[in-house]
Amino acid sequence: MPELRQDYATKEWVIIATERAKRPHDFLKGRSEPPQLPPHDPNCPFCPGNEHMTPPETFAIRDGTPPNTPGWRVRVVPNKFPALVPNGRPQRVRLGLYLRMDGVGHHEVIIESPEHDKTLALLPQWQVEDVIRAYRARYQTLNSDPANELVLIFRNQGERAGTSLVHPHSQIVATPIVPVPIRRTLYEAERHYDALGRCVFCDILEHELECKERIVAENRHFVAFVPYAARVPFEVHILPRQHQATFGELPDDQLSAFAAILRLVLRKLYFGLKNPDYNFAISTAPHYSQGEPHFHWHLKILPRLTTPAGFEIGSGMYINVALPEENAKFLREVEVPEG
Ligand SMILES: [Zn+2]
Ligand SMILES: [Zn+2]
Repeated sequence: MPELRQDYATKEWVIIATERAKRPHDFLKGRSEPPQLPPHDPNCPFCPGNEHMTPPETFAIRDGTPPNTPGWRVRVVPNKFPALVPNGRPQRVRLGLYLRMDGVGHHEVIIESPEHDKTLALLPQWQVEDVIRAYRARYQTLNSDPANELVLIFRNQGERAGTSLVHPHSQIVATPIVPVPIRRTLYEAERHYDALGRCVFCDILEHELECKERIVAENRHFVAFVPYAARVPFEVHILPRQHQATFGELPDDQLSAFAAILRLVLRKLYFGLKNPDYNFAISTAPHYSQGEPHFHWHLKILPRLTTPAGFEIGSGMYINVALPEENAKFLREVEVPEG
């Protein structure tokens, strides 16, 4: 019998197609080894030596070299083809029936490593920490401007996840509005808090730690699990144990634990499922919600092992052809090489 499951936080329903469910190993069939890339590509705008091919950097972690020259470990630059641009006014204008506004905001690229052929899962711990440090620095700067209502950090890995450049990078977009799905999640979280006086995400965390069957990994400050109503096979959420509304509140002494659990989960996917394409995004509350008791930032990883089709587009509801508990067990047991 197929099953419908509801996400406790968003109230979103998902069909878990148990009748058609695939075993974890079914997702490996036909997958080839990851392609071999050169460590440096002279035509790649993100490779060292090509700093002139990108707009001037907004942030970098470098060993004493001047901006926009080689010698960086992580480099953040405005996107050359931005979805939103900083100059303009975030003012709504009525046009007959409709509302419009200038596409004002920010769109930056976080170049995660000088090495062209690496991916986040294969970077050493210290380098992933540098990436998280860059995420937090840019988040805090962009979030300090009230015109940026939401600051979203995300990563697209592989063609099926929508990436065009192979050099390891993430992106950060600051939008002048709060998108509807975020608004709805906030609304549900606020309702939960009003009714029960508790953060819905703290409640989910407590429950998952108690029943254990969907836990993938945990450390001192973070927990990774497959959500009860996972929308796609091997979806993983990472939550801080301590309540924090926005990503910018991540304290210094928890930063390396966050890097460690993200790296571990990405390595489990990389080695266990042969480098699947994936998207990840950090769900965080908008600009004005810092310190709020009802929202709790988290990172969501959605592997692209299946393709959403007509049903998903028509209904907005996902059909997941894998069992969350089975996926969690599989990932828990994947052993990743040291290094
Ligand atoms: Zn490159
Ligand atoms: Zn919480």
